[in-house]
Amino acid sequence: LTATFAPPVCVLGLGLIGGSLLRAAAATGRHAWGYNRSPEVVHAARDLGFDASTDLTATLERAADANAIVVIAVPMPAVGSILEAIAEHAPDVALTDVVSVKSEMAAAVAAHGLSRRFVGGHPMAGTAESGWAASTVDLFRDAVWVVTVDDGTDPEVWQAVADLAIDCGSVVVPAESAEHDAAVARISHLPHVLAEALALAGAAGGDLALGLAAGSFRDGTRVAATAPALVDAMCEANASALLVALDETLAVLSAAREQLADGSTADLTRAGFDARARYDQQA
Ligand code: NAD
Repeated sequence: LTATFAPPVCVLGLGLIGGSLLRAAAATGRHAWGYNRSPEVVHAARDLGFDASTDLTATLERAADANAIVVIAVPMPAVGSILEAIAEHAPDVALTDVVSVKSEMAAAVAAHGLSRRFVGGHPMAGTAESGWAASTVDLFRDAVWVVTVDDGTDPEVWQAVADLAIDCGSVVVPAESAEHDAAVARISHLPHVLAEALALAGAAGGDLALGLAAGSFRDGTRVAATAPALVDAMCEANASALLVALDETLAVLSAAREQLADGSTADLTRAGFDARARYDQQA
């Protein structure tokens, strides 16, 4: 029943996340359409029966006419030009996004005068793949979807964004933008940097080390396979929170190094074992 009265959804950027959102929103019975700059993607989406266009202006004018929720699903560096177009063609729509760093996104939205009806979002779902071809209807099923609550957040838009996340199968977690960024620096952005360090350490061991590598190396380096440009943009956009998390991690590594050098290794990994147990209890 919710879907019958739910507002239409207009997705800007039909990559892994935006494409999955278009598929999931359409599957709930909502009117949903998308924009992508590349004709190949738009043709591929249309071939499967989805409503998609390469014309950003027309897509936004349609969203304004239909009172749709507009979802920005492009990488952070592309957000500025999309916001410019929204400010020009659909300044009053309910607006959300899926970008993985919330403070910088909120600042960009404010800089374009679009804060009034903006509520940030971040589905904690993804794969190491990207693009429309990797998108799936159930990417968000049972995922956590952060919907931001900051000073001035419009409760109606917040609810509309939360309803969309729930319709896509996710569990909504409200958080302030800065709080979200500090948390994802630790559990998402830091792991990318650590995976890079681990991948380099393994590769430095040459063919023998890589030939012997099994589960630990594969699991620890999995996210190092993500497109570097996307990860770099994410880390750069969350630099101050990531620096805090990196400094803490460097302190842990230094302490481990000292213990190894001194031969005092009785509790080398005890704290990590306990911290992991806390995660297991919560999961
Ligand atoms: P993707 O590479 O699969 O898709 C990006 C989309 O943006 C593509 O459709 C591309 O055509 C479009 N795009 C890129 N530059 C553009 C530009 N200048 N103008 C117009 N369109 C442009 O990436 P993705 O993984 O879907 O990431 C999209 C957003 O979702 C990012 O902001 C990312 O932070 C966020 N996100 C990603 C994940 C993940 O695990 N991949 C998870 C949650 C959120």
